[in-house]
Amino acid sequence: MIDEKSRKITPWKGKNDLTPTQKFLKQTYDTYYAERRRKVSDCEEAEMINSYVPKMSPFCKSVRFRKFGYTKSGVQRYQCTCGKTFLPTTETIFDEHKISISEWMEYCLNLFRHVSITADSWSNKNAFATSRYWLQKLFMTLEDVQNGIVLAGDVWLDETYYRVRSEDVIRNNDGNKLPVISRNQICIGVATDKTHNVILVEGFGRQSQTKTLEAFKNHIKPSSTLIHDKETTHKRLVKLCRV
Ligand SMILES: [Zn+2]
Repeated sequence: MIDEKSRKITPWKGKNDLTPTQKFLKQTYDTYYAERRRKVSDCEEAEMINSYVPKMSPFCKSVRFRKFGYTKSGVQRYQCTCGKTFLPTTETIFDEHKISISEWMEYCLNLFRHVSITADSWSNKNAFATSRYWLQKLFMTLEDVQNGIVLAGDVWLDETYYRVRSEDVIRNNDGNKLPVISRNQICIGVATDKTHNVILVEGFGRQSQTKTLEAFKNHIKPSSTLIHDKETTHKRLVKLCRV
């Protein structure tokens, strides 16, 4: 069972008759752990957060609000004319964060460098569940990030496949896995006009004309030139580009 405690505990916890080596190792580990788990109030991040002045109330979108004291951590609080109070971090990914933003940043950097969340949770001394929760939070934040992107001019398009998580693998009745490209593969379309990129899940299993069209129709400007591997499943999208 991987839980938060397992990251904190050393074999020498609660023992008094430690050898100098054990004492040294325990102290070093405990210091490192504490360093990784600094409370927001102990970091100097309030100043950084306060440098962001909200443009409007995150709740009612009103621009009529005033300064309204500070939190215990020294973060500027604001109050809207409707009475609701908020912070610069309210309704952002850092809302209600218990650990410092710098740790959040390190987590994101690791993730973007393809460090697995298991490895990250060990090196950052986080519970695995925390790392997974952060991942979900990050995905929610990024969910709409590609919405307004429309590629134009020369547009390169190709698909790649990723296997679903092992717990989602579907097997045949005889217990064997399905063929290589099957519902166990996530089809991801990648398109670029060398200014912007659009990366979308087209669906599970083999690509199809409908899947490709549905994924990309709002992301490629009509009369663009589609540069691709002549995959027949791109046909309907190519037609759309000729409009
Ligand atoms: Zn309001």
